[in-house]
Amino acid sequence: MSKRDYYEVLGVTKTVTETELKVAFRKLAMVHHPDRNPGDKEAEIKFKEVNEAYQCLSDGQKRSAYDRFGHAAFQQGGAGGPGFGNEFGDFMSDIFENFFGEAQAGRGGARGRGGAPGRERGADLRYNLEITLEEAFSGKTETIKIPTSIACETCSGTGAKPGSKARTCQTCAGYGRVRAAQGFFAIERTCPNCHGRGEVIDDPCSACSGAGRLERERSLSINVPAGVDDGLRIRLAGEGESGLRGGPSGDLYVFLSIAPHLFFQRDGADLFCRVPISMVTAALAGEITVPVIDGGQTQVRIPAGTQAGKQFRIKGKGMPVLRSREVGDLYIQVSVETPQNLTKRQRELLQEFDQSASDENHPESAGFFSKVKDFFVSGATRP
Ligand SMILES: [Zn+2]
Ligand SMILES: [Zn+2]
Repeated sequence: MSKRDYYEVLGVTKTVTETELKVAFRKLAMVHHPDRNPGDKEAEIKFKEVNEAYQCLSDGQKRSAYDRFGHAAFQQGGAGGPGFGNEFGDFMSDIFENFFGEAQAGRGGARGRGGAPGRERGADLRYNLEITLEEAFSGKTETIKIPTSIACETCSGTGAKPGSKARTCQTCAGYGRVRAAQGFFAIERTCPNCHGRGEVIDDPCSACSGAGRLERERSLSINVPAGVDDGLRIRLAGEGESGLRGGPSGDLYVFLSIAPHLFFQRDGADLFCRVPISMVTAALAGEITVPVIDGGQTQVRIPAGTQAGKQFRIKGKGMPVLRSREVGDLYIQVSVETPQNLTKRQRELLQEFDQSASDENHPESAGFFSKVKDFFVSGATRP
């Protein structure tokens, strides 16, 4: 199924302001909220879609990534699935707990939202992955080890000793939450007896002490595509911590950073490299050898009379553009190195050159100083 455009989902234009976005989102979220449409699968899908679109567009950074790359910005080679869905899930349910709290309580507290109590979604995990610019250039497969918890095999994640069963908590009758009147308000809080699980395990599984999961180290192979940039986030759905007592797994977010490079600075797909050349090469012309990100090198011809700061573009020697066939360029910016530690003879040669030099040799400084002179005579500061 192809994903709908986020702006379209929220019924807004690309120029929508933050405030307008929030208003549009609230309206739609209210209409499609599952608590208002019990059992309506389509409303549930719509709600998720609206939620996801808002999470992306309300975040400046994600929005600009989306504007540039579309949905591809948040997906990774098929492993990803829709981005951001769960990161804001908790935040969202906080909002809706406030909006719809009474309706939920009427239908049985926590059970009204997200299935049976006790089943808890596993936590999302974050993994910071630093790669080199060369690796970002060619793409790489990185095997990472993540400490995580997996469902206990002994009790199949139930937390109860095999053959025994958890029993419904009597304090909250299985809702996981209890209500108490406080003045005019009915306050709902997590059940103190079962800690929100809705059930009590009398005979806990010995392998996991009743948690239903075990701590393990897992290795996971991550495919980092060529052209990735600093700050990119890769979401691996379901690769986070496993859920509690049969709950769904969390997601794994890989935050990518790229180590600074010795020669190259990157701007999008283009690379920049500053190369010092000698005063003589700059004056008389020459050829310099410069490094290329693919590991090779290339020749750049320096014409006679090259000034410091001059840039030379080498087409197609930059970074690949993520999920495209385009490639950026390499810019070589030369700096002209003034010779130092001169011998007596070298000094004489330069002085000799200086005596023979005319304004023709230094048109820029000659021009500048004649302008300065004009300024002192007439006060002119405009060309
Ligand atoms: Zn167990
Ligand atoms: Zn309870």
